[in-house]
Amino acid sequence: MAKRGEPAGAKKAGRSESLAVRRRRLDRVMTHLGQALPPLEEPAVEKLAEEEQSDPFKVLIATLLSARTRDPVTLEASNRLFARAATPAEMANLRVSTIEKLIYPVSFYRNKARHVKAMCRQLLKRYRGRVPVTMEALTALPGVGRKTANLTLIVALKSPDNICVDTHVHRISNRLGWVETSTPEETEYALYEVAARRWWPLLNSYLVTWGQNVCRPLYPRCNHCIVAPACPRLGVEKVGK
Ligand code: SF4
Repeated sequence: MAKRGEPAGAKKAGRSESLAVRRRRLDRVMTHLGQALPPLEEPAVEKLAEEEQSDPFKVLIATLLSARTRDPVTLEASNRLFARAATPAEMANLRVSTIEKLIYPVSFYRNKARHVKAMCRQLLKRYRGRVPVTMEALTALPGVGRKTANLTLIVALKSPDNICVDTHVHRISNRLGWVETSTPEETEYALYEVAARRWWPLLNSYLVTWGQNVCRPLYPRCNHCIVAPACPRLGVEKVGK
């Protein structure tokens, strides 16, 4: 069923397209985005990874803090926490209330503070303070879901085999008609089918950057979007300036 306010027939058109057509459109859009992104600000976790030489522990913590939190808030909170404790051993020794104060105002800071401490303890107990390198081991850690695990594997451990889907990647992939899915997890699995492997580690950074600057959740800036000719704008009701 078409979403409320969707252009008539839009979803139908998306459904009828073959995998080959969607693949070609994805190739074209990703190529254009790759050329257009450099002047735009990088997502917080990628930025932090560059500053911290891709330290997997710091990338994992920053990714956990970034859920439902604006990038500048994530960056500042992560840096405050790392200035006080830079390793799992140091962080496990902090009180939860201290972590809460350091990471405030990230969303759900109380839950995240508990997860940070519990995760550091598990890293020490099970992995001698190292970050594990498999999806199974990562998602067994407190507070770590597929999104956090995928981004850690891609950004810190340079995995070419993962796609990280957050709300931006989920929304834009559906607007572009690459996938037709209801949840980020469904989108992740659908993208493994549609996207050529060379795009897998890049999809998150390209679409998060585009989603923060152009293809915003509300009022996407379609009139200023360089990929508009390749976009059916599925589900877009109103565009912004
Ligand atoms: S044309 Fe609009 S909906 Fe499509 S990618 Fe660009 S901003 Fe998003």
